[in-house]
Amino acid sequence: MKVETSYAGFCIYCGGKASSDEHFISRWLGGVAYIKKASCVICQKIINDDIENPLSRGLFWSARKFLGLKSTSDSKEPLPLILINSGKEEEVLVPLDCNPGFLTMPALPEPSIFLHTTPMLRTGEITWQFITSIFDQEKHDKFKKLYPSDYVATRELGIVSFMRLLAKMAHGYAVHSGIPFRPLLRDFILYGDRAKGEFFVGGLPGFGPRSDHSMVYAADWISINGVEYLEIQFQLFPLAGMPVYRIIVGEALDFIDYDIFKTIWTIKEEATEEATRKEGYLNRMYFEWRDTEDQSLNVT
Ligand SMILES: [Zn+2]
Repeated sequence: MKVETSYAGFCIYCGGKASSDEHFISRWLGGVAYIKKASCVICQKIINDDIENPLSRGLFWSARKFLGLKSTSDSKEPLPLILINSGKEEEVLVPLDCNPGFLTMPALPEPSIFLHTTPMLRTGEITWQFITSIFDQEKHDKFKKLYPSDYVATRELGIVSFMRLLAKMAHGYAVHSGIPFRPLLRDFILYGDRAKGEFFVGGLPGFGPRSDHSMVYAADWISINGVEYLEIQFQLFPLAGMPVYRIIVGEALDFIDYDIFKTIWTIKEEATEEATRKEGYLNRMYFEWRDTEDQSLNVT
């Protein structure tokens, strides 16, 4: 098994002393690449308690179980779903062999940095759009007979946790790639200030393109009000045509700032070398992987 790793040597969230490796794409979403020595005990606990555990056991539970995406603490627990009949809600526990693989994700509005100059809550301004896919139609037909309802919902969506997960994955991906940038998302990942989240984390409307990749990532510089920002775009579950997300992870550093980069992000030397060749480097920044037998990561 070939797994792509990088090395940080400090906590990529708080800058403190790192004690463990960081799987920036959660293992329960099929992530294999990781950054060695990149998170501290405290940040790891915040991320697990506030982000990873609620989502892996909530929003993503049905799809994960259906696709066989595992994590170390997984059990065969039944699937908790909420059946809605004439407005009445009833929680049921569905045995995993009746799970048709429900996957619901929000299609986020664009990050508000494109519209506003400072972070502000857009309550009332946003209409959330939810995209649902079902992996197994035949099982779904059986499910509907066993559990008749007008609608089926997963447990609480946790929109801020979801945006923090996107921020965490994009931030980690950018660090892992050795791109020089001044990070903007560390506070949001750790503390979840929603206005800040909406400012930097968003997406494209509607379904995303379908492909047979496990996940698709792309990175590019984007100019907003005369400032160069690093934008990471990615799509989880492109297999099901799920939405594409856009995350502004940081501001560009120029050559004058290069020393700052070295003190903020002491990524291994060969990566920082390459990172000075901004354009050439970014061309290599698109990577993707498939669920091949050897789980290898194909860098293109
Ligand atoms: Zn930390």
